[in-house]
Amino acid sequence: MIKIKAHSGDRLNDLADQLAKKAVQDGPRLNLKLTDILAVRILMTCDDLEIEASSRRCIKHLFHAQNFSQFLLLRRAKEIYMLTEQHHIQWSATTRMLNNNQTDNDRSTTSFMQHHRRAFKYKLFISELLTLTQLNKRRPDLYKKPTCVLCNQKDESQEHIWTCSVHHHIWINLLSKAAHFLYDTIQHISDTPPHIDTIMKLVHESRTFITKGLVSTTFWSSLIKFVRSE
Ligand SMILES: [Zn+2]
Repeated sequence: MIKIKAHSGDRLNDLADQLAKKAVQDGPRLNLKLTDILAVRILMTCDDLEIEASSRRCIKHLFHAQNFSQFLLLRRAKEIYMLTEQHHIQWSATTRMLNNNQTDNDRSTTSFMQHHRRAFKYKLFISELLTLTQLNKRRPDLYKKPTCVLCNQKDESQEHIWTCSVHHHIWINLLSKAAHFLYDTIQHISDTPPHIDTIMKLVHESRTFITKGLVSTTFWSSLIKFVRSE
């Protein structure tokens, strides 16, 4: 499957563009009597207050909010819903993390690698990674038991992947690397950067959120404090 860039001179793609434009122009219109055009004023209001922002942006944001709230009401998003209610998630940073493309800078083409990464991030996010616990529930005939094959002690759930004794040192190493990376980055921005131990503590304390790709409000507000400390 290849995605064609817009206006790249592809004949059929240009034809599709033309047809789409024609459909917009030929669609139903708002008919106004032009005898007193100066008196015509169309206003969008909310609770009787005039919306001063662009109506297009406003409608776009309303639909985003609607989709977001529909998602939060899903059963699979129960945990995310609770964390949101308690104001534990910094949503703008979290959305950025979820939609960030590390593998491909060109957003107008389809990258399977990027798609694969994003699907993985979303599975982590809603705790639907195909662990043995999940597989055992779906196909008990194929996956006889949910026990972790590495430690043979506990069931392999998404939480267990991070807490399994076999993975423990890798996980701690990852968190420490992330803390050092963050420390280096903050040093470039802030005149009075915090001590590495403070960053290390912050990263390690946020580990449950990190495992789901969430940015916690505590983590975010601490970062803001570090960066704006001067
Ligand atoms: Zn294990």
